[in-house]
Amino acid sequence: MVQTEYIQAKGFIAEVSRTNRIKSATIKVEEGTVKVVVPKALAQEKIAKLLTSKNSWIKEKIALHRQMQAASAKQYISGESFSYLGRNYRLKVNIGLYQPVKLLNGRFTVTLLKGTDNPEMIKDSLTSWFKQRAEAKLTDKVKRYAQIMGVEYKSIGIKSYKSRWGSCSADSDIDFNWLIIMAPNRIVDYVVAHELCHLKHHDHSPKFWRELEKVMPDYAASKEWLKSNGDSLQV
Ligand SMILES: [Zn+2]
Repeated sequence: MVQTEYIQAKGFIAEVSRTNRIKSATIKVEEGTVKVVVPKALAQEKIAKLLTSKNSWIKEKIALHRQMQAASAKQYISGESFSYLGRNYRLKVNIGLYQPVKLLNGRFTVTLLKGTDNPEMIKDSLTSWFKQRAEAKLTDKVKRYAQIMGVEYKSIGIKSYKSRWGSCSADSDIDFNWLIIMAPNRIVDYVVAHELCHLKHHDHSPKFWRELEKVMPDYAASKEWLKSNGDSLQV
């Protein structure tokens, strides 16, 4: 288990993980999240110094990410609700030492330093939470369905897609749009079974749908649900 630390820098929060496997630190900005990997024993102040020296590069990357994000109708304030596996949970924003989003006692809570409790920070923290949950849940479901369907896959990935829920490559790599984890369980199952079914048929031919029907007789209802409600799955 990798222990993640959070460092509050000027204008952003960095996720820091430590490892024995590298000799010098690396920084990357993925989807607006700053991720730093450092050698195990590197002092906290050295990390802070590194972040300061890269401050303008990091901020540029974050700004670019925010520009590219579609305007969302959601508000990132206490009281707003977000769906996880089809159930809505309200968000509570606390002020204090940074604590990433948690789902506790039926609500999402996030704690931010005074002055950093802005919508972008809250959205990024929620996004990290949803991506982590998506990875864990989808991995479980893929394992379960692959066994039922008798198929073998190579890898499972979590992606940000604009207009698709999943993909299955010719090399048996399966990727999912993390937003699917907001949908009800049976809809998530449908997307999992659908992508795994592509391991047998790489198209949407009648054979493909007949195969899918074997494991999920009511797949048409889920397909329809996604068509009408897919756009509402937004963080
Ligand atoms: Zn498909």
